[in-house]
Amino acid sequence: MGARNGMQYLAGLREQEREVWLDGERVRDVTAHVGLAGGARAIALLYDLQSEPEMRDEMTYVSPSSGEPVGLSFIIPRTREELERRSRMMLNWARATCGMMGRSPDFMNVIFAAWAGAADFFGEGGRPEFAANMRRYYEYLRENDICLTHSLINLQRSRMAANAVNLQQGTALVVVRETDAGIIVRGARILATLGPLADEIAVYAPPRMGHTQDQSPFVFSFAIPCSTPGLKFLCRDSVDEGRSHFDRPLSSRFEEMDCIVFFDDVLVPWERVFLLGDVGRENAIFQRTGSGVHSGHQGTIKNLAKCEFVLGTALLMTQALGNSHLPHTEERIGELMLTTQLTRACLRAAEAGAEPDEWGIMRPDALMATTSFNLFMNAYPRMIEILQLLGSSSFLLTPSEKDFKGPLKDHIAQYLATDSTAARDRVKLFRLAWDLAGTSFGSRQVLYERFYARDPLSRARALAAMYPKGEVIERVQQFLGRDDEP
Ligand SMILES: Cc1cc2nc3c(=O)[nH]c(=O)nc-3n(C[C@H](O)[C@H](O)[C@H](O)COP(=O)(O)OP(=O)(O)OC[C@H]3O[C@@H](n4cnc5c(N)ncnc54)[C@H](O)[C@@H]3O)c2cc1C
Repeated sequence: MGARNGMQYLAGLREQEREVWLDGERVRDVTAHVGLAGGARAIALLYDLQSEPEMRDEMTYVSPSSGEPVGLSFIIPRTREELERRSRMMLNWARATCGMMGRSPDFMNVIFAAWAGAADFFGEGGRPEFAANMRRYYEYLRENDICLTHSLINLQRSRMAANAVNLQQGTALVVVRETDAGIIVRGARILATLGPLADEIAVYAPPRMGHTQDQSPFVFSFAIPCSTPGLKFLCRDSVDEGRSHFDRPLSSRFEEMDCIVFFDDVLVPWERVFLLGDVGRENAIFQRTGSGVHSGHQGTIKNLAKCEFVLGTALLMTQALGNSHLPHTEERIGELMLTTQLTRACLRAAEAGAEPDEWGIMRPDALMATTSFNLFMNAYPRMIEILQLLGSSSFLLTPSEKDFKGPLKDHIAQYLATDSTAARDRVKLFRLAWDLAGTSFGSRQVLYERFYARDPLSRARALAAMYPKGEVIERVQQFLGRDDEP
């Protein structure tokens, strides 16, 4: 099949009914449900971009197996040029969603590309079939342009130190038995973003879990179709309430949904198992394969698109309000520019510092990719705070699309205009800003950036573990040892 278009993606979702629950009801067709259809359309538009004649070269590459054009985020980059080509493709997708869909399909594609390039790693524990499974599955993803969600975290009954890896029996996902057909898994996981809108779900452990040998029943990596019997997706409230694009410009377009996933004795066929009970390999997977770094690279691109969008919105807000000359406005806009440029710098540095890894894959600079993750989990909430400080009551001077046709339309046109901006343009802009900074869509975006790449403590530890500390310590020690000054 090769690279899909939007219609093919939507048809795939309809053909493969999965068990999705939202607000007490089973959703039979996610592409038609008011709370989910907008997000499905947004992903469909991303796939459409691949088939636009003028974008095709930038969005796809020629499959090494079928010769068909396939999505460029599946490429296993072996050169700097391939890495940068993939980067441009992902920036096109990120800009198409204003950076608001963290789980555009490239999020998972780069992870599986890294794993497939390092497929031998999966067979090193004496199970060569797992390496073959990984190669075959990656090829299936690439050739069919499959959209994946993932779920890494076990629900927690307690946050006591002893339970730090969340492996409570009866809650955490566990292998309950092995059969000739595959493994049977039972339990629950969070938080499958894009769950209802994906074709398949990948399940594995997050980085740096440090599992011990006695935890081996909880240690595995696999992927199955979202329609697999026994798999149940429980959605949070949708942020898309069916309002118009004018009223809720972002919520109505980019709801990517987050789900708890229940696994009721789900059969995972052997050919879909990539690791099983192999504690050493599961603990090492991110470091050895570089998948976390490739994920950080993809995330940095999304962050850049998001920064650009928030900054652009802020600049338009100050133009509309006529307050761009005020010193504290300049200071706040300067802070948004700083975050945007630091993110751009992280992206450039991650690519400039890329080196071939032990598998011959061009791996972006790990420290820069991690720095970008850690920067953004604090910087994005601050960017949104700045929008709130800039906008103040203007966020609430936002009549709806219906009001513009109602009995007060002349009042609205007269009183809500500013010196530079007609009332309708002002309201349209501030409705966008409110969707970033005030609605449930905007709040969920902030929560996403704070936590999607694990909690702040784990992120800080990850950075500290890889930072080349010796160099800076040595410099200070040399200084302390100097006795040549009067
Ligand atoms: C919008 C959103 C989308 C997400 N999407 C996905 C997804 O698609 N797939 C996926 O697998 N995961 C996803 N996640 C889950 C994400 O990986 C987790 O939220 C993250 O790992 C944090 O885990 P937690 O939510 O259980 O937080 P908790 O562990 O409850 O942490 C809450 C706070 O308490 C602190 N804390 C907790 N325990 C301790 C302790 N023992 N000592 C000190 N401090 C502690 C943490 O640092 C944190 O600040 C998503 C999360 C969000 C918010």
